[in-house]
Amino acid sequence: MNHPATLSPRPILLQVDNATRLYGGVAAVQHVSFDVLKGEIMGLIGPNGAGKTTLVNLITGLTTPSQGTITFKGRVLNGLPAHVIGRQGISRTFQIVRPFQGLTVRENVAVGAMYGCGGGQRGASGAFAHADEVLQLVDLARVANAPVESLPIADRKRLELAKALAMDPELLLLDEAMAGLRGREVDEAMALIKRINAMGVTILVIEHVMKVIQGVCDRVVVLDYGSKIADGTPAQVMRDPAVIEAYLGQRYAKAHAAQTNADAQETSGE
Ligand code: ATP
Repeated sequence: MNHPATLSPRPILLQVDNATRLYGGVAAVQHVSFDVLKGEIMGLIGPNGAGKTTLVNLITGLTTPSQGTITFKGRVLNGLPAHVIGRQGISRTFQIVRPFQGLTVRENVAVGAMYGCGGGQRGASGAFAHADEVLQLVDLARVANAPVESLPIADRKRLELAKALAMDPELLLLDEAMAGLRGREVDEAMALIKRINAMGVTILVIEHVMKVIQGVCDRVVVLDYGSKIADGTPAQVMRDPAVIEAYLGQRYAKAHAAQTNADAQETSGE
């Protein structure tokens, strides 16, 4: 998953520099800095209330930073409205899915296709044609003409992803896109994330399921009480004492270490 040293370093796509967001006396995000490199899948984890969604809101223009700078492809995003940021090439999903009620699945995705990078050039028929491509990609073509209200949770999650993808993002932010999914559905969603990444989309994933973080992410940033407490590969952050203390818990750390040892013994016995 990590890139061989022989490859030239990837350029920085998004730069979060000293980002802070205050709500009254509460610092939802404080002095957070990190880069997202072009082409990578980066995880953003931390306990409930750590500031993950606030950070995504800062990047996508739903909230403005109280302090600090957010730069995308060399352009400062601070103060730009969400639709302008969308046209720069950033799109996101919401933790609580927000389909446009009263529309079909296909119509919902066509709305996304009219915004974002390519949206300005598309008329209605172009938007529907693009929606059809995206529906194929996320396996929703089978329910294209269904009203959104009829979808089960796994398909609502796919639709949320499809709306964001229809905006042709260079950077896709997934805010707990797998919450509520079960075993096989999670595996399918992980495979889909990898497929989207292989198409050239850089991805930032907020996720509580560590199997997902381990399975898809090149690198992980960990937040706690609004501050960054770790930044490294999934393996590095999972054995970081500060991350175990704040988020994973000792039980998880022991189980993870036991599994890693078992895997190592199995490999050496082969
Ligand atoms: P979760 O995993 O539960 O989604 P999170 O890591 O995404 O949590 P945030 O939703 O970003 O955390 O919240 C960070 C902190 O900021 C919390 O203490 C939250 O109550 C506070 N907060 C977030 N948005 C607002 C707001 N609009 N007004 C006041 N406080 C807010």
